[in-house]
Amino acid sequence: MILVTGGAGYIGSHYVLYERNRGNKVVVLDSMVYGHRGAVKDVPLVVGDMGDRLTLDRLFNKYPIDAVVHFAAFAYVGESVTDPEKYYNNNVRSTLSLLDAMRQYGVRNFIFSSSCATYGNPKYVPMDEKHPQNPINPYGESKFFCEKIMNAYDKAYGLRYAALRYFNASGSDPDGNIGESHDPETHLIPIALQVASGMRDKMTIFGDDYDTPDGTCIRDYIHVLDLAQAHSLALERLRDGGESSYYNLGSETGYSVREIINVCEKVSGKAIPVEMGPRREGDPPRLVASSAKAKRELGWEPKYTDIEAIIRHAWNWETNRKY
Ligand code: UDP
Repeated sequence: MILVTGGAGYIGSHYVLYERNRGNKVVVLDSMVYGHRGAVKDVPLVVGDMGDRLTLDRLFNKYPIDAVVHFAAFAYVGESVTDPEKYYNNNVRSTLSLLDAMRQYGVRNFIFSSSCATYGNPKYVPMDEKHPQNPINPYGESKFFCEKIMNAYDKAYGLRYAALRYFNASGSDPDGNIGESHDPETHLIPIALQVASGMRDKMTIFGDDYDTPDGTCIRDYIHVLDLAQAHSLALERLRDGGESSYYNLGSETGYSVREIINVCEKVSGKAIPVEMGPRREGDPPRLVASSAKAKRELGWEPKYTDIEAIIRHAWNWETNRKY
């Protein structure tokens, strides 16, 4: 059985859906600070904090858990700069407490939600896993520290892990039962679609003076269910005795902010009024993954590679939100 922390959040809930569709058993642990009850369907949900040892003891005693997939974390980059304590405390300390419980209960398979934010400013693109890791904000650092901790725990205690470094998670369940819902929302695609749906009047493009063809930032958008598939494959590999490793998960294709807004207009059939704003602090001009390693070693094959399909799924969700 798989323990999924943060399984009521955006990426975690899609991973749970993916495993459930394959008939696998999961239990979700979520603090519900940012999670949604509607995102957790027909699987046990334990509401609690990972820092709370009693909650973890109860979980590991009650369920036959042999693997942990750990999504639970705070993920607002800007907030991590203004309130780093919240990020180091929650993201690092709670991971430590989870790993300690795993040690005690003899659970050795660990899949960790990492991020391309562990790389910091790109020295080259596409970025492979050999790219130096120099995170430039406490959020990226919190993920980086966790990777370091896992590495040391592997050497000392035999923990086996896969750290999955996501690029821009996007899209949603094509059936529209679950989707992306952040409060506050800061991500480009949902914001653009909320303008299209009339929930917002307009949006701001954060900078059009970057050294890119249209001056706006380029990102690599990867469908959330393709991320889910990679978690499942990484776990299979660990269960089959594979070594600890880390993988970039991206589509390997870059789209500019303007291009994304254009696709959002096309998919929704609505005009999206934009205004130009200053650059957002800490935004590198271009982030594009090389995911060759995940494809080669995990046999990962992203299914939703068409940006229009990704945005169509997000638009279906945006116009039929359940939460
Ligand atoms: N962006 C923007 N306006 C918005 C939200 C985002 O111009 O209202 C830009 C942001 O500066 C970045 C890109 O869109 O270049 C993707 O941002 P997002 O927050 O979705 O993901 P990130 O790359 O920061 O993880």
